[in-house]
Amino acid sequence: MGLLLFLGARSALGQGSDSPSAVQRAETVRRYELDPTSSLESRVRNTPSSILKLFTDAKFSKPTDHALTAEERRKLSEAFAALPPLHQRILSERLRSINFLDGMPNTGLTSTVNPDEPYRLFDITIRAGVFRETASQWLTEKERSCFDAAGSPLSVSIEAGETGALVFVLLHEATHIVDFCLGLTPPHPSEKEKRAERNTSPTGFTRDVWSENRVPVPAYRDPLRESVRFYVGGKKLPIARAEEVYTSLRRTPFVSLYGASNWNDDLAEYATVYHWTEVMKQPYRIVIRKEGHDTFVYEPMKSDLVRSRLDQMKRFYETDPTITVR
Ligand SMILES: [Zn+2]
Repeated sequence: MGLLLFLGARSALGQGSDSPSAVQRAETVRRYELDPTSSLESRVRNTPSSILKLFTDAKFSKPTDHALTAEERRKLSEAFAALPPLHQRILSERLRSINFLDGMPNTGLTSTVNPDEPYRLFDITIRAGVFRETASQWLTEKERSCFDAAGSPLSVSIEAGETGALVFVLLHEATHIVDFCLGLTPPHPSEKEKRAERNTSPTGFTRDVWSENRVPVPAYRDPLRESVRFYVGGKKLPIARAEEVYTSLRRTPFVSLYGASNWNDDLAEYATVYHWTEVMKQPYRIVIRKEGHDTFVYEPMKSDLVRSRLDQMKRFYETDPTITVR
C-alpha cells in the first residue's frame, strides 16, 4: 500500500462511480468470462501483464507470480469469508481476478480491468508475503517506514492482534472497489472539470471532513502530519516527532495516518479498522514506546470524533438483496 498502490489505484480507477445498463453489464460479464456465481477464492489467476508493467522501477527486482499452497488457499477463503456482506456481494459481481506476487514492493493494488467501459470489473493484486505476517507485524512495519528511529530509544507499533495480515489488506482493497461502485466518496474530477474549478459535491462520508481528495477541511489540516510519507524512499520524520504526529491524528476523524492522506484511503482505512475492531473484535492501538515502556497509546475507534462517522458504516452490513448494486 505504498506509492505504487496509490498511483495505480488512482489512475486505474478512472472517473467516479458508474451506472451501466443491464445490457452493458451482461455484455461485459460475457466478454470477460466472469461468472458472478463462482466463489471468490476460485478467481486466483496469474497477474495480468498490464499490472506487471507497473513494476518497472529499476530500484526493485521484478515481482513474480506466486503459486498458492493449499494452506494459503485456505487462508484466502477465510479472508473472503471475513468480509462484510456488501463487500462479498460487490466482489462476486465485479472481481475478475485476484493475484499474488513475490517481490512486490508495495502490498496491495486494486486496478480496473476495463477503464473505458461503463460496467467496470476489477483485479486485486497482493504481495504474497502477507500470508506469513500477522496484521500487527505488517501494520507495524508499514508505520515504521514513516519514521527514522536510528539511535533513538523510541519505537512506534500498531497492535492489531494475531489475525493474518491478508484479512486487513483484503478489507482495504475490497473497500476501494465498493467505494468505486457505489460512489461513497466523490468521483475524481476530469481535467476539464478541474480547469473549470468545478467542485465535486461531498458525500455523506466526506462532508465536513474533506475539501478536496487530498486536502482535509481546515480544522483537520496539519503540515507536520501531512509530511508523513508511506512509500519506499519517502522522506522519513525523526521518530522524536512521532508523538506530535499522532497527537495531531487524535484531533481528526481519521482512523490512521494512512487514512488521513486522501478520501479514498480514508474510507478504506475507516471501513477496515471499523470491521476489524467492532465486528471481528480485534485490537487496533497505536503505541509509542521508550525502552520498552508505553509513552503514548491511542485507540482511534474509541475516539468520539472517529465514532461520529459510525453511521456511514451501516450500509456495509445490510443484507437486503433488493438493494441495487450498481
Ligand atoms: Zn488504498
